[in-house]
Amino acid sequence: MEYVLETQDLCKRYGSFHALSGLNMAVPQGAIYGLVGRNGAGKTTAMRVLCGLQTPTSGQYRLFGCPGTSRQGARARRRIGAVVEEPAVYPELTGGENLEYQARVLGLPDRGEARQLLRLVGLSDAGGKKVRNYSLGMKQRLGIALALAGDPDLLVLDEPMNGLDPQGIIEVRELILRLNRERGITMLLSSHILDELSKVATHYGFLDSGRMLRQISAQELEQTCRKCLRLTVSDTLALSRALEKLGAEYTVLSDTQADVYARLNISKLTKALEGEGCELVGVQERDESLETFYVNLMGGERHD
Ligand code: ATP
Repeated sequence: MEYVLETQDLCKRYGSFHALSGLNMAVPQGAIYGLVGRNGAGKTTAMRVLCGLQTPTSGQYRLFGCPGTSRQGARARRRIGAVVEEPAVYPELTGGENLEYQARVLGLPDRGEARQLLRLVGLSDAGGKKVRNYSLGMKQRLGIALALAGDPDLLVLDEPMNGLDPQGIIEVRELILRLNRERGITMLLSSHILDELSKVATHYGFLDSGRMLRQISAQELEQTCRKCLRLTVSDTLALSRALEKLGAEYTVLSDTQADVYARLNISKLTKALEGEGCELVGVQERDESLETFYVNLMGGERHD
């Protein structure tokens, strides 16, 4: 398999604080790679280092096969477009002017690409509008258009869905899928919205305290995870007792919710719950395998 990006024992220290502690990750060519992790896990730091915005304290990384800190690495970095944290846009310029300015900064010839990029990200009608009047979703898409200006082979997007309304989320999701499928652009994304990430990602990397806990393809994840029933009850302690008696496998998520992996006879379950003085408030079939996987990996309470 060819990797556009690989890291080996990558470390980043701020004073005595280790933001990255020996990160090993590999992003296959053509993938939509989702970085998942708690706040402070090191996702943004990893992206900043890989984009050359920060230097690693130790460890190595390769971009398109070239050592990241070498001269070839610097050239390879030109094949990366990125929106890390806020998209860098000039609010007093129009979307089109922002793109023309970016093309000048990159030394690209003006071939009317601003218009093409605006069309690509669905901002054709808003190209003449000042960016300060853009919605958050429009700004995010303009940020992506700016990152596309150098015709990158890898796009790095930090929390591209953050703060967007449902319509904005759909637009950005479709754009990510289109850029990957139609232009063959490899994507490295981070997102807190697991359900949303699972709609686009082909690969995942689960980060915790600056380390890679696990890398897995969406296909492997699908095979690893099973469908489950999410039960909402008055008390999961009582539910646990009932499920133990029924011999079911389950994960407690909170005081009132648990996921059950066995095929349950609902009338038997209701009876068992009655016996424990527990009320069944709701039953929902779940297929959110990414969330289940994440909870388990991060140390959710699993009872087999
Ligand atoms: P979030 O999901 O909240 O964006 P993240 O996974 O992107 O989190 P990072 O922003 O990479 O996490 O931060 C990792 C850790 O490094 C955090 O504890 C953060 O406080 C710390 N950190 C980041 N930048 C600096 C800095 N310039 N100086 C000191 N500590 C920093």
